[in-house]
This record gives sequence, C-alpha cells and structure tokens, in this order.
Amino acid sequence: MHNRTIAELARALRAKEFSSVDLTGHFLNRIKRLDGRLNSFVTVTEESALAAARAADQRLAKGEAGPLLGVPFAQKDIFCTQGVKTSCGSKMLDNFIAPYDAAVVSQLNAAGTVMLGKTNMDEFAMGSSNETSYYGPVKNPWDTAAVPGGSSGGSAAAVAARLTPGASGTDTGGSIRQPAALCGITGIKPTYGRVSRYGMIAFASSLDQGGPMARTAEDCALLLRAMSSYDPRDSTCVDRPVPDYAATLDNGLAGLKIGLPKEYFGEGLDPQVAAAIEAAIAEYKKLGAEVVEISLPNTALAVPTYYVVAPAEASSNLARYDGVRFGHRCDAPKDLLDLYKRSRGEGFGAEVKRRIMIGTYVLSAGYYDAYYLKAQQLRQLISQDFKQAFEQVDVIMGPASPTVAFNIGEKMDDPVTMYLSDIYTIAVNMAGLPGMSIPAGFVGQRPVGLQLIGNYFDEARLLNIAHQYQRVTDWHARSPRGFE
Ligand code: GLN
Repeated sequence: MHNRTIAELARALRAKEFSSVDLTGHFLNRIKRLDGRLNSFVTVTEESALAAARAADQRLAKGEAGPLLGVPFAQKDIFCTQGVKTSCGSKMLDNFIAPYDAAVVSQLNAAGTVMLGKTNMDEFAMGSSNETSYYGPVKNPWDTAAVPGGSSGGSAAAVAARLTPGASGTDTGGSIRQPAALCGITGIKPTYGRVSRYGMIAFASSLDQGGPMARTAEDCALLLRAMSSYDPRDSTCVDRPVPDYAATLDNGLAGLKIGLPKEYFGEGLDPQVAAAIEAAIAEYKKLGAEVVEISLPNTALAVPTYYVVAPAEASSNLARYDGVRFGHRCDAPKDLLDLYKRSRGEGFGAEVKRRIMIGTYVLSAGYYDAYYLKAQQLRQLISQDFKQAFEQVDVIMGPASPTVAFNIGEKMDDPVTMYLSDIYTIAVNMAGLPGMSIPAGFVGQRPVGLQLIGNYFDEARLLNIAHQYQRVTDWHARSPRGFE
C-alpha cells in the first residue's frame, strides 16, 4: 500500500479495496517500525488518526468522493494543530499545545486527510539540514549518514521512506525545495500569498509560504488545491480563485520556453549534479521544449540579502517568546528581566540566537539604513531579474541545491557554508515566486533535485511541466533501500 501515490490510494479507497482505517494502521505501523532509524516524526497521533480514518470511512461509505478523502498525511510541526503539541522544533515550544488549527490543517482535515502526526524540522525553520532541531537531527533515508535537508527535513524524509504518502512543508528560503531535492521527492513552494499563513508559526513573514511535499507532481497538485485559499485572517493572502491543478497536468509541452540562468551553472555547482540537471533538460527537449540561456545577474546577492531580511523579521517575530504567556519559562525568576533572559536563553538553540542577534543588529538605529533598507532595495533588483527573465521564457530551470545531501555534522560548525546550500532557492522567496523541486537522478545513492521556477501564480503550469517529466522518467518512483 505504501508504494502507491496519493492519487492511487484515494482511488483504491473509493473502490473499497481497503478502508482508511486499514491504510492508516499500515502507515502507523511503518512509522513504529522504521522511524527509529530516521527521527522524522516529533509526535505520532495514533488515536486521533484512527478516529479521523473512521470518520473518513463513513464519508466514503456514503459515496463521498473527494480526491484526498481517507488519505494519511503528516504536518510539519510548524503548523498549529488543535490539542496537539506544536513545537516548531524548539525547546521553547516543547510544552505548547496549540489551541486552534492552522488554516492549512483545517482545510486538509476538511478534505478528509488523516493526520498521522507532526514532523521534525529545524528549530523555527532555521536551517538547511535539520540539525538545529531540539529533537535531534533527522536522517536521510537514502543514506542515514546524510542530512535530509531542511528545514522541512522530517516531512521530506518521512515521504521518501514511505512513512506517509504526503506531508506539509514551509519554505522561507528553500525549506520545501532543498529537502525535497535531497530526499528525492517532489515539493512545491507556491507564490507568496497563495496559501494562508494563519496558524503557521512565523519565521520571516514576508518570505514564509506553506506547500505540499509528496512523491509526484500529481499528488502535489491534489494537495495544493486543498491547501490554497483566500483567508482574510492572513492579510497577505491573495484573493484569487484556486485552479484545479490536476486538470491541466496532461497538457503537452511543445513550444515551452525553458530559461537556464547562467549563474545557476557556474562555480560551486557539483559537476555530477550539473550532469544530472543537463540530462533532465535534454529530456525536456525531447518533450518539445526549447531552451534559452538567460541571466539573473543579481543571483550572488540573494544569500547576503536574505541573511539581513530574514533575521530582521525573525528577531521581531520571535520577540513573543518571553516566558510570560506560553512557551518555556525558566525556574524561579528573580524579576521580569531575569524571566525574559533565562527563558529565552534556555528555550532557544544556537542558530536561533544567532539570527535574533543579527536581526536585532541590522534593525537597530544607525544600522537600519546601511543594512535593512539596503537589503530591501536589493530585493527589488532580485525581483526585477526574474521579471525580465519571464518576458523571454515560460519557466526557469536549474539545480535546487549545489550538491547532493552532505553528511550529518559536516557543515554545522560553518554557518556560512550551510547558508550557501540555499543559493539557488533563496532568490525565489525574495521575489515571492513559485518554485518546485522534482527528482532528477542520483550521485551515488544520494538524489538530485531539478528546480522549476514559475511566474506569479503559475503553479498549474509548474505542476504540468513536472508531471510531463515524471511520465517519461522514474526517478520519483524509486525507493530507498530498507524502506521498500
Ligand atoms: N535554510 C534557510 C534558513 O536557514 C531557509 C530556511 C527556510 O526556508 N525555512 O533560513
């Protein structure tokens, strides 16, 4: 059962081949048996999962036929889930039981998905390797010496290991695409404003966007439709109809113009990753696409700009964790200042503290113009690069990550090298564009991800382009050894 896609599982449920209770039990057993090797779940909600599965079976028995009805799913632990611990990978929220559901969670629940549990992640989504989690690193199912990527590494590892057919992720600078790439699965970060951020714990609010992670583009299409909405509770959510993403998956690609940014194929890109990406582009040519070389001249500015903007917003968003209303509180505080200092000092890990310090610095009087304002101006230039590119091409392609998964521990002592893992993904968030990663080969036993970047609200096109590739390749269908 676990090797079937979401689309196949939903069809089998409707055909009464098995019940949602059977299916849910099967995945819960796999988690019990196999997750000890990966650490991809922080919380498994066995009882409520079986109750939700029973409710889905009743809906199915009445003839309801939603495309996700009865299908198991996992939520990244950044999404608030009513009555269930929502830790965001942090000691700060280790004791936090969310009092309400995030928009994404309530929409997926209404669609009849069955939540298996909450997945591990980098602390407050800060990281590219899942090593900053309070709950310990997640391992990559393709090679347990390797990281799964981050920050949605628990979701990516769980999907790759077939512990769940799909999971949610969030992407502030690459956290859906990079772990999808490193774990050999499919993930899409929608246009900023497509998916409600209500109840999604904030990291950098002008960049954060939730999206689905699954094995195929078809599954992402089904999930994204259920996750998208117009939600007045998120003031940056955009009021636009949600397309039926699955309806256009079969469109042909003849005449599609693919832009290859020369900056994405230069120094720093592993030659074996480059070879896999070139082979994928050759496949697209066979499908009728044309390839055009383009330039995104401000690419090199994306990482430094991000590391001003994202920490600035994070330092402000994380000010709420002061030990007063919720979250970790230190023992026996002497006075209010001591309460703040020790609660935050004990509750946050090293990477989070580093970001808060950078953010506070770049926002402080005297440095604001030099750093924060400058970064906002550069952000405009980065967006203009893409605007010009999309005047010439329909989609931009390149690697999602400069290397395949690195080893656990390899980059933890060198934050800047770690930050550079997101060199190809971060600019997309700066511009608010949709981006995707799809499996496109291996280096040794570690997967390579092809990144697809689309114009604003072009998710249907991206999913279509990804699906056409998945019809003629089988990278997405392979399973890691030991998890078959
Ligand atoms: N790796 C990047 C960071 O640490 C991006 C994380 C993300 O997208 N949430 O900020």
